[in-house]
Amino acid sequence: MNRSGLTASIVFTCLLSTSIAWAEEGDCVRGETTHGGNWWRETAAIMGTDIRVELWDTDEQHACEAIAAVMSEMHRLDEEMSPFIETSTLSLMNREAYQSPVPVGKEMFDLVNRSLDISRMTGGAFDVTYASVGRYYDFRKGQKPADDERRRAILSIDYHYLAMNADDDSIGYRHDGVYVDLGGIAKGYAVDRGIDILVKRGITQGMVGAGGDSRILGDRFGEPWVVGIRDPRNRDKSVAVLPLMDVSVSTSGDYERYFIEDGVRYHHIIDPKTGDSARSVTSVTIIGSDATTTDALSTSVFVMGVERGLRLINQMTGVDAIIVDGHGELHLSDSLMEMTASNQ
Ligand code: ADP
Ligand code: MG
Repeated sequence: MNRSGLTASIVFTCLLSTSIAWAEEGDCVRGETTHGGNWWRETAAIMGTDIRVELWDTDEQHACEAIAAVMSEMHRLDEEMSPFIETSTLSLMNREAYQSPVPVGKEMFDLVNRSLDISRMTGGAFDVTYASVGRYYDFRKGQKPADDERRRAILSIDYHYLAMNADDDSIGYRHDGVYVDLGGIAKGYAVDRGIDILVKRGITQGMVGAGGDSRILGDRFGEPWVVGIRDPRNRDKSVAVLPLMDVSVSTSGDYERYFIEDGVRYHHIIDPKTGDSARSVTSVTIIGSDATTTDALSTSVFVMGVERGLRLINQMTGVDAIIVDGHGELHLSDSLMEMTASNQ
């Protein structure tokens, strides 16, 4: 297998999306019988998105308990990290960390630290304090901050304002108005935790997905998993179909949560420099080994755009990118280009 887990050439196509048809929410459903066992799957609405778990097992109870354990882990993480749940550790931090440092526990401390690594790596394109402005958008209601409000709130965006203290896993805010949202990394993290749970339970083939973030464990008995990348401007079409095994894949698009006002698209990926939606590309897919990284990088590269984004990805080992720009053109990282060329 090559380094990014692609098992054959990517198929660039206008095929109808090959995404799997999922069953009714909330049931552990038996799928195809094969190799002396079955595929099992379940979907649930958690963390404001659809969580999907699919795995192969010989035993129904073992399979469905493993899926249930992943779902309950997703609930746990949501209760810890959601900005919409008042009792979450994140909400507590946002209320109190400017007054005095808040002990957030090792798990959240480590995830915020990981976010800071990505911020440094991306020259601040990824910045969890983006939400100092981001909190004033409501994409469902079509609301955005007024220009003067946005300009004032931008002053509170800067990941350097987070004071990390590893002695007691506490985080303080060094500036008034700082607000943190982990929406650019938490789903990927949750997917990684889900895969860990499956592996600990002896599952060798499966996948965990949360919205645009998925991680694949193993293959499908010699066949790859197939993940379609949606055409950003036509939900019934794919721009590419990726045959994958043992990798993570994350897509960030400007079509998930957005509204259009005066011909301008306002969507949920915010350039920390401007406090406005990033608009140079329409979709970014990152392939890599873990979903925490691919999730954060898909958001980052969306902000960075084609040139800076590909420069970053091409410097990294084991990470690839597929970007759809504002004209619908595809841009691939170097190793994907080589791979598709050698497969032709
Ligand atoms: P989705 O949440 O739809 O999977 P993404 O992975 O692209 O999409 O992440 C977008 C989310 O990332 C936003 O909803 C927001 O919570 C967060 N976000 C937006 N802009 C930034 C940014 N510049 N840095 C870090 N996080 C961001
Ligand atoms: Mg992301």
